[in-house]
Amino acid sequence: MHCPFCGAHDTKVIDSRLVAEGDQVRRRRECLACGDRFTTFETAELVLPRVIKQDGSRQPFDEEKLRAGMQRALEKRPVSVERLEESIVHIKHKLRASGEREVKALMVGELVMDELRKLDEIAYIRFASVYRRFQDLNEFREEIERLSREPARQ
Ligand SMILES: [Zn+2]
Repeated sequence: MHCPFCGAHDTKVIDSRLVAEGDQVRRRRECLACGDRFTTFETAELVLPRVIKQDGSRQPFDEEKLRAGMQRALEKRPVSVERLEESIVHIKHKLRASGEREVKALMVGELVMDELRKLDEIAYIRFASVYRRFQDLNEFREEIERLSREPARQ
């Protein structure tokens, strides 16, 4: 780590602590040449895969977009922000655990549906009806019937 003040190579870590719920390490460093101190934030390189859209274009995974989509489905439903955030963590974990550098948008959608289904069935149906663009009313009805037959996994 270069010193940002004098450019020297030798810096010493004088304090190290986890931040952002353990995803980041904050280090306080001191330059051995000029004695100035500075702070660095280091994040593990667990990069989320890029998302392949239906038209074949690739986009970086967009957590805000994911959250907004789920919030829209959960509007006025009795689900806490904490539970939504937990679901987002699960989705990101599964995406990282896939080990893929690129995943289809469809796969992300399926992960979202799995999580929404555990959170709230109405939200799940709202999301699925937009996401899957049910061809007709019968298909939608079938999905609702399927749901009433098999209860959501807890
Ligand atoms: Zn320095």
